[in-house]
Amino acid sequence: MIPLDEAVAIVLDGCRPLAPRTVPVGEAVGCVLAEDVVAAEALPPFANSAMDGYAVRAADVATVPAELPVVAEVAAGHPAARALAPGEAMRIFTGAPLPDGADAVVMVEHTDRLDGGGRVAIHRAAAPDDHVRPAGDDVRPGDRVLTAGETLTAGGLGLLRSLGAERVAIHPRPRVGVLSTGDELVEGTGPLRPGQIRDSNRPTLLALIGPAGGVPVDLGHADDDEAAITAALTRAAEECDVVLSTGGVSMGDTDLVKVVLDRLARDGVRWLQVAIKPAKPLAFGVAGEREVPVLGLPGNPVSSMVSFELFARPALRRRAGHPDDRLSRAALTAVAAEPLPRRADGKLHLVRVVAELVDGELRVGRAGLGQGSHQLSAMARANALALVPDGPGVEAGAPVQVLLLDELHSRAPAG
Ligand code: AMP
Ligand code: MG
Repeated sequence: MIPLDEAVAIVLDGCRPLAPRTVPVGEAVGCVLAEDVVAAEALPPFANSAMDGYAVRAADVATVPAELPVVAEVAAGHPAARALAPGEAMRIFTGAPLPDGADAVVMVEHTDRLDGGGRVAIHRAAAPDDHVRPAGDDVRPGDRVLTAGETLTAGGLGLLRSLGAERVAIHPRPRVGVLSTGDELVEGTGPLRPGQIRDSNRPTLLALIGPAGGVPVDLGHADDDEAAITAALTRAAEECDVVLSTGGVSMGDTDLVKVVLDRLARDGVRWLQVAIKPAKPLAFGVAGEREVPVLGLPGNPVSSMVSFELFARPALRRRAGHPDDRLSRAALTAVAAEPLPRRADGKLHLVRVVAELVDGELRVGRAGLGQGSHQLSAMARANALALVPDGPGVEAGAPVQVLLLDELHSRAPAG
């Protein structure tokens, strides 16, 4: 058996970021930027009002109360037709261009309209620049606003749109194919014949790919047959950027994925026995001229999900261009809300847990007692994996590292 870190390193060593591509900014959210983005425009593009109120010259309202004639109204999108002269005020709304000649805005709350609207009484003195958003106070032309290696967020898209950016260089999302293998598997809802089970790994893995940043590609199912698996994986290595299969990587005579991959992969298969439970076996190879990483995940449903999390997700994230420190999820330290018992067996155990924030403290308890690699019920409830190191387990109240898979539950403390 080899340690988890070593197995992850073997997989990542076979994965390279996909070549950058320039795409419309609207298609780039969630992708990793391949180049820095430099602003071509200022943001805001012109000085404008931060408030609804009156545009004035600060010098005219240095002593209050002051009374000024209201000579115009300036709204967002409608610049004033002329400059503000000394001794005048203009009604102004948020986002409207500050008229030439004005240097401050007085909030409407500190004013009273007089003479049916012809004049305004100002009750609070203003200093130059009060409630004014100067041109370029967020971004100046030439500023680097986003950096290569960052993931474009919705906020980042907003920034690019504000600056009039049309296209952006990103690493494309990898197309990630999923093939299930096994004579026993059937799809659909019909009655099961003796010995058959329903294929749950393929839909599950396909569902995990999108949130991890990949484009799922359903490669269907292959029987435990060398020719069928060879045909499916060969085609997959031509169409996809990462290939995942499930089943057929253990010790059985019908476990043929590792056999096929040994022939298809450039340097043969790495058939790994990783010191973890579940998900001990993993077959890995780099196939075809396009150097497509192929991961043979184990068939047990929980194992295939855990194996996805530990190996496939980092692999596809590397292909998507994420920097090394963003490949795996951060391990957080939680407190065990109950004992997490285990026996020493030389492996790291990944226990399916529910993690919740209780009064600001991250607590975990088992998502179910059925923690076998075939038992999906607890996995379905879990939002985290607890990393329980080799030994007698973790006592209640003790710290334990967790990988968050999903959103945190949150509740107020009892009592
Ligand atoms: P294998 O790794 O092929 O030996 O499969 C291990 C266990 O996982 C067996 O009990 C299989 O029936 C089960 N299994 C394999 N593939 C799937 C799948 N796609 N969906 C559900 N169970 C599966
Ligand atoms: Mg099988």
